[in-house]
Parts: sequence; C-alpha cells; structure tokens
Amino acid sequence: MSDYRHILLAIDYSAHSDYVANKAKALADRYQAKFSIIHVLDNIPMPDTNYGSVIPINEDTGYELLEIEKNKLIELSKRLEIDDDNQWLVWGVPNQEIVACATQQKVDLIILGSHGRHGLALLLGSTANSVLHHAPCDVLAVRLLDN
Ligand code: AMP
Repeated sequence: MSDYRHILLAIDYSAHSDYVANKAKALADRYQAKFSIIHVLDNIPMPDTNYGSVIPINEDTGYELLEIEKNKLIELSKRLEIDDDNQWLVWGVPNQEIVACATQQKVDLIILGSHGRHGLALLLGSTANSVLHHAPCDVLAVRLLDN
C-alpha cells in the first residue's frame, strides 16, 4: 500500500470527536501527510452574507453563531497542528460537502466516525454510509461503540 499523502478529517463535535481526531492526527503524522479538516454547518441558519458556502477562516464574518463555529474549528485545528489553509468550514449537507471537499482538494484518505450526532451506536451512521459509497478515495470509518 502506498503512503497516504492528503488526509481529510471530518468532524461533527459529537462526544467521540476527540477520539476520531486523535486517530487521524496519528495517521497524518505517521504518513507525514498533508492534514486537512472539515466541519459542515448543517444545523444553524445561514445568514445573508457575501460569502459562498465556504466560510473564510481568517475573516471576521460579523455573525455570532458563525464565529462560534469558526473558533471551535480553529481551536481544534491548533491542537492538531492543521494549517489555516487546510481548515474547511462549509455550509450544506455533510456527506455531500465532505465528498466534494475530498474531490476538490485531491484527498486520498477521509477519516470520520462510524456514527456521530445522527447515528446509532453499533450501526454505521448515514453520513458515514453515504461518504463510504460516494468518496473518490479511501475512507476510514473509526469504529465507535456508543455515543
Ligand atoms: P453520522 O453518519 O452522521 O452519524 O456521522 C458519522 C461521522 O461523519 C461523524 O463521526 C463525523 O466524523 C462525520 N460527520 C457527521 N456530520 C458531520 C458534519 N456536519 N461535518 C463534518 N463531519 C461530519
């Protein structure tokens, strides 16, 4: 198996996010891969902004809810040593945006939890399932036993 060169971590801030994030960081370090992170905003209203669906990480958007989400991503990225340029905060449907980001950024491994906020323990959640079926690359679903 060749080395992975670009790993994308999909994070939803559910209870096991740190566990999934730590596994992704360990793999990125082991392969010395480019390391990116994505969080898809699917549960807060989209304000009327000049931005498209990708929220700029380095700009003050002026929207409180957005700034809270952005700062969570920046904070976690700092801990995982992920560069600003590799942080993706995107509006939309999680499975679609994760696959689109992986395609556009030429990711060769997506890492996510086997379930998250919407999933059931022991089963593959709907985001994980859909990403597995549509991803342009390998997908590692980190097995989570309970939520
Ligand atoms: P689910 O299939 O929705 O239970 O979620 C499975 C995994 O998909 C989670 O553990 C996350 O890694 C990822 N995921 C789910 N929702 C999102 C989201 N809004 N943004 C980024 N990743 C997500």
